[in-house]
Amino acid sequence: MDCLFCKIIKGDIPSAKVYEDEYSFAFLDIKPINLGHTLLVPKKHFTNLYEMPDEVLAELAPIIKKLGIAIKNAVSADGINIGMNNDSAAGQLVFHAHIHIMPRFKNDGHEHWSGTPYKNDAEMNRVAENISSKL
Ligand code: 5GP
Ligand code: ZN
Repeated sequence: MDCLFCKIIKGDIPSAKVYEDEYSFAFLDIKPINLGHTLLVPKKHFTNLYEMPDEVLAELAPIIKKLGIAIKNAVSADGINIGMNNDSAAGQLVFHAHIHIMPRFKNDGHEHWSGTPYKNDAEMNRVAENISSKL
C-alpha cells in the first residue's frame, strides 16, 4: 500500500522521531503550527478514527498524555491542542489515522474556529437526542 505514514514508520522515509513503542510511533510534523507539533500514529494502518479498534485507541490514549506533557515542557508552551482530522471535509490530507499534538503560545496568532449559538433550547435538545440515538 502506498501510504506516506506507513513508510515513515518503517523508516523508508526519514522523520524526526520523538517516540516509539510496540503499537505507536510519533514524529515531528514537517509543517508545524508551532515548533514541537507532533504526530502520533498507530503502527498498524487504519484510515481514520472510525476504523481504529477500541484496543488501539486505548493504547494511544496514555501516549497522547505523555507526549502532550513532554512537548509542553520541551518547548515551554502555554498550552496544548490535541486534534484529529477525519475525512477530507475535516482537513484530513494523509489517510493513515494520526493525532496532532500541538503546542500553543499566548498570542501565537492561531485562531480558534468561531461557533454559532443554537437558535433555541429545542434545537439544541433535538440535536443532542439525535446524536444519542446513533450511539
Ligand atoms: P492531516 O491534515 O492529514 O490531519 O495532517 C497531515 C499532516 O502531515 C500535516 O500537518 C502535514 O504537515 C504532515 N505531513 C505531510 N507530509 C509529511 C511528511 O512527509 N513528513 C512529516 N513529518 N509530516 C508530514
Ligand atoms: Zn499507513
